[in-house]
Amino acid sequence: MDIPQNIKVEAQKRIEPYDVEGFVIGKGDTESEVMIVGEAPGENEIVKGEPFIGRAGKELDKQLEILGLDRKHIYITSVVRSRPFYWTKSNKEGMRKANRKPTQKEIIAHAELLDYQIEQVAPKIIIALGNVAFKRLIGSEDKLSSVIGRVMETPVLKWRDEEGWVESEHLYKVIPLYHPAAVFYNPKIRPQLEQSLHEVKRYLDEKL
Ligand code: URA
Repeated sequence: MDIPQNIKVEAQKRIEPYDVEGFVIGKGDTESEVMIVGEAPGENEIVKGEPFIGRAGKELDKQLEILGLDRKHIYITSVVRSRPFYWTKSNKEGMRKANRKPTQKEIIAHAELLDYQIEQVAPKIIIALGNVAFKRLIGSEDKLSSVIGRVMETPVLKWRDEEGWVESEHLYKVIPLYHPAAVFYNPKIRPQLEQSLHEVKRYLDEKL
């Protein structure tokens, strides 16, 4: 997707003060009725400039298969387009970069990119992968685990410098799911995750 130069330049300028690297726009079918919103790219993604191609990407592919969705036919993007990192000790080579969650300031710095993509793709259904995407999109205080797989008809939030977060006029069907990497940290969620994927698949089969 082509993002207007002024939006891209501004977003890159705004994120510059923070410890982030690389830039991944998003990938897929810009005409799709389904958009997937992740958190932020990791190391592999910024090298290739593609979302979800590392370990979490392989897990995402398995989950997409359960949902009956094909990457080529959906649009995949994320809340922040650069990889947030921190320095940590590595046994072998001194220091190395590790992934971290984006901060609120980083989320705001890249908000206009996601706002633009949502407006352009105008998906019927937005799947929010993980808490960062879920909160960014609808600002809900709900615990992610209590709303996993639920279809919410709701406006999404967009950022305005003067007003802060404001709601879109348009309503979307937002479906929160666990971030694919969550099962690596907490394998116990796998049964709940798979059950929610099967429920969402039934919903998608009806609606698409
Ligand atoms: N996690 C994300 O949210 N996006 C990616 O592209 C990779 C991992």
